[in-house]
Amino acid sequence: MRILFVATEAIPFAKTGGLADVVGSLPQELKKLGVEVGVILPKYSKIIPEPFRSTMVTKKTLQVSVGWREKYCGVQQIDYQGISYYFIENDDYFGRKGLYGFWDDGERYAFFCRAVLEALPYLDFKPDILHCHDWHTGMVSLLLNDSYKNNPFYQNMATIFTIHNLKYQGVFPKEILHDLFGLDENKYFSMDAVEFYEQVNFMKAGIVFSDLITTVSKTYAEEIKTPFYGEQLDGILRRREGNIKGIINGIDYGEYNPIKDSLIDAPYDSKSLTKKICNKKQLQKALGLPQTNKNPMIAMISRLVEQKGLCLIKRVLDDILALDVQLVILGTGEKEYEDWLEEVAKDYPKQISVNLKYDEKLAHRIYAGADLFLMPSLFEPCGLAQLIALRYGTLPIVRETGGLKDTVKPYNEDTGEGYGFSFTNYNAHDLLFTIERAIGFFRQKPTWTRIRKEAMNRDYSWNNSAKEYYKLYKKVLRDISKDKKIHVRGLKCLITKNNSKRLSLVNRMPSLSEKVGGDVELAFS
Ligand code: ADP
Repeated sequence: MRILFVATEAIPFAKTGGLADVVGSLPQELKKLGVEVGVILPKYSKIIPEPFRSTMVTKKTLQVSVGWREKYCGVQQIDYQGISYYFIENDDYFGRKGLYGFWDDGERYAFFCRAVLEALPYLDFKPDILHCHDWHTGMVSLLLNDSYKNNPFYQNMATIFTIHNLKYQGVFPKEILHDLFGLDENKYFSMDAVEFYEQVNFMKAGIVFSDLITTVSKTYAEEIKTPFYGEQLDGILRRREGNIKGIINGIDYGEYNPIKDSLIDAPYDSKSLTKKICNKKQLQKALGLPQTNKNPMIAMISRLVEQKGLCLIKRVLDDILALDVQLVILGTGEKEYEDWLEEVAKDYPKQISVNLKYDEKLAHRIYAGADLFLMPSLFEPCGLAQLIALRYGTLPIVRETGGLKDTVKPYNEDTGEGYGFSFTNYNAHDLLFTIERAIGFFRQKPTWTRIRKEAMNRDYSWNNSAKEYYKLYKKVLRDISKDKKIHVRGLKCLITKNNSKRLSLVNRMPSLSEKVGGDVELAFS
């Protein structure tokens, strides 16, 4: 089984969020299960750290079509911890100071999708499955079906598309279909393909044209089929619901391990929890907060965007601070929230520490030092921060949505079960009440210690989830080589794999919600 991850970030090469953690860790776990895995990424030549950047070996140079233009593409490789990482090089597109947010992102990732497919014959292995991640890679499956499936090299290649966050979709003007991809608008600019309110949607391409879709928790897989969470793609997701699966993310238990963490002041485990207080006091000292364990420290490490529930916190901040807590915030994001946090930090210098930056070491120190971790998200596909917090015995306060609902079992004082605190409605006073409740238990030391131990004993490593991906890959490979029975407008159809009859379902019947890769024979009964 050979899988190629197609993605736009992965630790330790480039990271903006949880996607990089997933693409960095999951291949390692799959390798342990005997899967041959490679990863292909853009070569962000100003961002990827040394020594990686200068030790890459060029395997091939190509010209890749971006519409009517031919663009240079280097295919480079580096082996890191037993995994082959391939990089698509073009400094005009990827030699910039950031990863995303440029005026020509549509063109940059159009190039990347085509370049990945062009590079495949020159890699060390021929993948059975292209496992694509998020909107930047959404066009890979469409291009594979459109332009490559008649080439025997690509014929039996399957595609899986993982949605890490449906909010970010990659929506561009209609003209790009022809200008950047050389695709026929009549064929693809329809509601059944990539049309999205008169524009082209890369995320939708991944959803429509991939053999299977996954997302990063079971609850989110259900939520995105509803109008509230569906980001206007719920209709197309409902149509493909038989092909959507939720698999929860894990975290790297090597990197996030409080007993072996060299970035924190006093390593500890669930048997030496008193040392957690040393981490709290050292952190308070570093951040200029009073050094005490009398009051709880509530932390938030997050992108500062609407998704993360900041407007709830803003609404009841004064009430939260009236509970005699310390609040530590680490993050960057929308200006509105950054400005507001800077202001309140001035108003409450003894209670709030606001750190508007990206800082890996400080993040570890906060996970280790805080008592409670705040994540009242409006929506949360999976969430990694709450998993890291649990691992460090820092109890999460979450809203019951997406992966937060699947991973944080609320504490129940009647049964003694649970290891976090949660609320259901997106309501500031429900959040406030939940914080008050959590603080009540903070003051009952034996109970508090018991809940913390329970949190630290959870297993949110990649172990189980990697096995689920493995099963899924097997299923996709089985399905792709198997005859299928489907229903088309009430007619029962048998679809058989037969290379002698060249009828592409996707091309001939674009309104079909069920898609079958490759060449097929249609037999009606
Ligand atoms: P998302 O992917 O939506 O941003 P996740 O909870 O899935 O949120 O993952 C966020 C990851 O990024 C976590 O590992 C968190 O610790 C880390 N992180 C977020 N902001 C910062 C920051 N300012 N400094 C250091 N790490 C951060």
